[in-house]
Parts: sequence; structure tokens; C-alpha cells
Amino acid sequence: MEKKIRFVSGLRPTGKLHVGHYVGMLKQAVEMQNSGKYDCMVFIADTQALTDNAQNPEKIKESVKELMLDFLAAGLDPQKTTFYIQSQIPELSELTMYYSNLVTLSRLQRNPTVKTEIKQKQVEFGASVPVGFLTYPISQAADITAFDVSVLPVGEDQEPILEQTREIVRTFNKYYGETLVEPYGYFAKDKSARRLVGTDGNAKMSKSLDNCIYLADEPEEIRRKVMGMFTDPNHIKVSDPGNTKNNPVFIYLDIFGTDKQKIKEMKANYEKGGLGDMVCKKYLNDVMQEFLKPIRERRKYYEEHFEDVKKFYYEGSQKARQIARATLARVRKALKLEYFE
Ligand code: ATP
Ligand code: MG
Repeated sequence: MEKKIRFVSGLRPTGKLHVGHYVGMLKQAVEMQNSGKYDCMVFIADTQALTDNAQNPEKIKESVKELMLDFLAAGLDPQKTTFYIQSQIPELSELTMYYSNLVTLSRLQRNPTVKTEIKQKQVEFGASVPVGFLTYPISQAADITAFDVSVLPVGEDQEPILEQTREIVRTFNKYYGETLVEPYGYFAKDKSARRLVGTDGNAKMSKSLDNCIYLADEPEEIRRKVMGMFTDPNHIKVSDPGNTKNNPVFIYLDIFGTDKQKIKEMKANYEKGGLGDMVCKKYLNDVMQEFLKPIRERRKYYEEHFEDVKKFYYEGSQKARQIARATLARVRKALKLEYFE
């Protein structure tokens, strides 16, 4: 049998998944899974979630349950994909420890993703950023390299984290000999899906910004959010020419809509003047309802079969641990930490 390329992809259990996670990452993971060319592994990054939620383990525990369902709801299939939970693979922490010696403090502080996130969390953190949070890119390097992953589906904002992982890999291999694999991102084809805008027009849909449509939202909730979406602020009267470029309603229509011809015509009319926001939002509501219905139904199905779901994650965690153990053995050998062989 031909050896498949392995990919891993993880999400933090800090709340429910939104459509930004879906188009930015999960959709690609599902496509890779269904192509049959990959050995697919997805995980719940609970240890990482604790780095900025140390005082609230209950929240993480609750969110793990939600995420277990969200992954399956999104179309990841237990027959084809291995599901696991980060904290169940203690080997990852040991790898993180060794990699910590290969990264400087100033390099971490300059990581653009970390910088943005620290800024976003200014209210929570103040001047007191937890060490674990600052160093999470190192633990992500462990999450990736433990499975010899060369490609992984991620959103655009993860590129600096991948770059940092590649640096760690290169340094490791230079000091200790060729041991680890350099990873590269697999991004959405559609550029605006790589960093989906929020319903409020903010550059990124994000739980922390409260501008999300969640995969588990009920129809009424979806409708309320779509009808309240930010559009072109200068499109006041229906007859005014409108802008479709930075307009979240049209960005979502492009990404989630299937009737491309209709959307093209709507755009032309909106730009010319004469098409109202209400009409566009009503149509977008239909589109989002259609897109989210099967996801919500799968979620309900697995919610009712939660014992099976737990079994997928338990067995997957055992399997993932075996792989991580083999990598760790290689790493220890490279580091010359073998005394009793
Ligand atoms: P949030 O940012 O909503 O608080 P989170 O911090 O748990 O959630 P991230 O770690 O930011 O999630 O993202 C997890 C994965 O989902 C990453 O690959 C990221 O790039 C992708 N992702 C998150 N939000 C978006 C978005 N709005 N558009 C595209 N991809 C996204
Ligand atoms: Mg985030």
C-alpha cells in the first residue's frame, strides 16, 4: 500500500466553532480526508487552551465536549480520521521542553500571531502575560512535529506559528542531525476564506470579538445575526450605489452561496444602485440556513450517540500516543539522552 501523507489539525476548546473555523480550516481538512490521499488526524488542544484559561478548567472541559461534536458535525468522519485530545499525549510536553531551548524570548515576543493575541487579551492579561501563553508556539511545534506532519490545513493567521515551527525544526536538525520534518500550511483556495470577516465587518470572525455565526446556531439565531450584519455604511438609500468589496454580506455570499450566477447579478445591481440591503440579507439568510442545516443535524445525531463519540476520541488518543512516543524516542536519541541501552 502506498504510504499516505499525514496531516494534523487542532482547535482550542474555548467555545463553540464558528463558520470562520469551518471555511478557514475544517473545510480543507474534510476535503483532504475525503480525497483518500491523507492519513488524517484532528485534535482538541485542551492543554493549549489552559494557557490563557488557567483559572477556568471547567470552561475548557465543557468546550471539549462541544468540540468533540463540532468536528464530527463539520463532516470529519470517524471511519477515516483519527480524533484525539492533546492532554492525553504527555509526550508532547516533553518535546515542548526540548524545543524551548531552541527559541529565544525575543523571537517569541516578535511572533505576529502571539503579538496580536496578546493585544486582544489586554483586558484579561494586563501586563501579566502567562509564560505558557507566550510559549504556546513552542508547544504547537511539538503538536506538529510529533506526527511528522509536512502539511496542515490552517487559517492565514497561523502562518507565523508555522514559520516558528520550521525554525525550530531547522535548528533541531542542525544541532542534532536530520530528525524532524518541516511543516507547511494548506490554505483555503478562496482568499477571503483564509481569514473570514466577522458579522460586524471586523477583519476576523472570532469568539473573543463576539461577531460569529456558530456551527451549532439554531435557525432563528442565524437569521437574527444575518439580518443584523454590517454592510456598506455609505449605502443608505436603496437607490445609492453600493460597495460589495469589503461588504461582509457579499463576502459570505461568495463563500457560502452555490448559485454563482445569481450572486453575480445581485452584486452588479447593488453596485449600480437599486438593490437594498434587506433583500441581500434575506437571500444570505437562505444560503446560511441551507449550509448549516446538515451540520446541525449531524451534530444532533452525535449528541444522541455521545458514548460512541467518546470512544472515537479515546481510541484515537491511544493511537496518536503511539506515534508521538516513536517520535519522542527518536528525539531523545538525537539529544543523546540514552544511558541504559
Ligand atoms: P477565536 O479566534 O475565534 O477566539 P480560537 O482562538 O480558538 O478562536 P484560533 O486558534 O484563532 O481559534 O483558530 C483555530 C483555527 O481556525 C486556525 O487554523 C485559524 O486560522 C482558523 N480560524 C479561526 N478563525 C478564523 C477565521 N475567522 N477565518 C478563517 N480561519 C479562521
Ligand atoms: Mg484565536
